[in-house]
Order: sequence, then C-alpha cells, then structure tokens
Amino acid sequence: MQAIALTGKQQLELQKRDVPAINQDEILLKVHAIGVCGSDLRVYNHGDDRIDYPRVIGHEIAGEVVETGERVTRFKPGDRVTLGAHIPCGECIYCQQNEGHHCIKGHSMGYQADGGFAEYVVLPKKFVQNGSIQKIADATSYELASLSEPFSCVLSGLDEVGTKPGETVVVYGAGAIGCMYIAALKRMGAAKVIAVQRSKTRQQKAKEAGADLVIDPSAENTTEKVKAATDRLGADTVIVTAPSADAQRESLEVARTTGKVLLFAGIKPVTENPINTNHFIYKQLKVVGTHGAPRYLHMEAVKWIDEGLLDFSSFITHTFTLEDTEKAFQTALSKEGLKCVVKPGERDRKLV
Ligand SMILES: [Zn+2]
Ligand SMILES: [Zn+2]
Repeated sequence: MQAIALTGKQQLELQKRDVPAINQDEILLKVHAIGVCGSDLRVYNHGDDRIDYPRVIGHEIAGEVVETGERVTRFKPGDRVTLGAHIPCGECIYCQQNEGHHCIKGHSMGYQADGGFAEYVVLPKKFVQNGSIQKIADATSYELASLSEPFSCVLSGLDEVGTKPGETVVVYGAGAIGCMYIAALKRMGAAKVIAVQRSKTRQQKAKEAGADLVIDPSAENTTEKVKAATDRLGADTVIVTAPSADAQRESLEVARTTGKVLLFAGIKPVTENPINTNHFIYKQLKVVGTHGAPRYLHMEAVKWIDEGLLDFSSFITHTFTLEDTEKAFQTALSKEGLKCVVKPGERDRKLV
C-alpha cells in the first residue's frame, strides 16, 4: 500500500509499505477520506514530543472496515465508519469518568500509532475498545464523515463555554473550525455572530457560514467595531479559533462584563502571552479552554452530519489524492480555503 510518512520536520515521504497485519483485537480500515487538521500542520512544522519518526500522521479519518480480529464483535467488514482521535487507555481516572479525551496516557491516532494518511490504517486494541468508532448513514459520504472529529471538538467547545440562544458571539478565525462554529452558533440560535478574519477568501466563507458581521483586523479596530455592534457592551461570548496570542489577548477586551471566552487553538511554538488578568476579575469573565472531545460528542457530531443539520460540504474547499498530500498540507498552510481532505481511495477509483 501507499502511505505518507512524516520523516522529520516538514518532511513528508510517499512510502510503499505492506498492508499491515492485524491481531485478534484489531481492525483494519481502508481509509477513504482524511482531513488535514490544524494540529497536523503544527506537527508537520514543529514536531511533537509524542511522535517518533517515521510516523504516518492524521486523525480525521473516515473509511471502511475491511478486516476484523476474531475477538472484535462490534464491527464487520463492509461497515462504513468515522473515527474520533483519542486512544483512551480505559483505566485512568479520566477514562473512568468517560473523559477519554483527557486520558493521562495521551495517546491518539497519528501520534503513538500510525494515522490516516495511508491507504489502510490499523485500529489498535485500545482504540477498538475505548475509542470512538461510529457508523455513518448510507447516504453520508466519507468526505463529509471525515469532518466528524473536528466538528466534535466544536461541539465540545460550545458545551464547555455554555453559549445560550440570543447571544452575540465573536469568533476569531474563520478557517474550517471557525466557520463550523459560526454555522453551528447560528443554527443553535445565536442572535448575532461576528467573525474576525484577515484573509479575504475566509471573510467570504465566514459570511457564507452565516456571520452577520465580518471584521478585518488589518483594516479595522476590532474592539471598537464589536462595541459599536453591541450597544457598547461587548460580546456575550468570544471564541478564539485562530492560533494567535494577539487574538487571545484581545478576546478579553471584546467580551462584555460577565461574558465568556473560549480559547480553542493552542499557540506553537509555546510563548509567554502576557494578559491583563484584571479583566477576569473586574469583568468577572468565565475563560475556558477545550481540547478534543468526549466520545458522546463525537457521536453527536456524526448525527449532525448524517442528518445534514449544517451545510457540511461548504467546509471542504479542496480534495487531494494521497500522492498529493504534501500539496494538501501546503494549501492548508496557505489559508486559501477551509478544510483540505485527502482521499486515498481516489486513485483506485480512477483505475476501475
Ligand atoms: Zn483534528
Ligand atoms: Zn486513560
């Protein structure tokens, strides 16, 4: 089979490998669609402590079960599924609390185990037992199903920050995640969603996703614009999906007194980010961060996709063959569009 291995920082290599053999507790999955995540770009650019080279990265996976070990009972060849990212150990305190996304071991697909930028991927025992493997509706394409993992993280963020209908929400960054937030917020009854985004293409995408107002921070004063749009109060909720220290600092300014702030994107390389903590106190802000998603929200994300509760196809702007994975990464890095999805099955289809 063909696989794209990360062999060093910013080095992706197309490798010929044997189709991996599975043991009695594992599943072999044929990958049909795999999304390029912001965290993949971070690992590509900066490496990661949890990754030894060479490693096939990628965790936004949708595909077809082609083989199951004899002790696997929940799945059979032919099942069409989409995956969560985490490989919970099942034993630590977080796993015991159904918070496998905070598992102390911190194992994830594409980190300690090979991930999805390949024709086939092995789902290891712990993943089969404790991870999220969700069947998708017959009518759901693999391409859309691959959005289940990032969208589950969006749902987890909304859950944690506790946005209510009728609110005014500012979303920093209108990439795939930002646009999913914008669309989901509108669907959930936000009164006004304001996007903050530099790139012109993404400003357009934010509008298409339902943003009522789009601010270009390179040309406008974001804090002033938000104040003007909220009777000088500031936003009820601010969500920062852009990996930007400036945006994180500013989010505290644009939130109203007793408002809420969700920090969603980590900053790499790690830098100190001096913030005005007085905002926490005198504005009595609730500031939360989220990372990943629990299994039940991954299940919910699949439901949203199966039932078409949002126009999920609008979040995918580019698709690539497996051979063009490098191009997919470059496109994602260029911030030209939203989600880039690689389709390892595409080459096969052309041959048929
Ligand atoms: Zn992801
Ligand atoms: Zn655990």
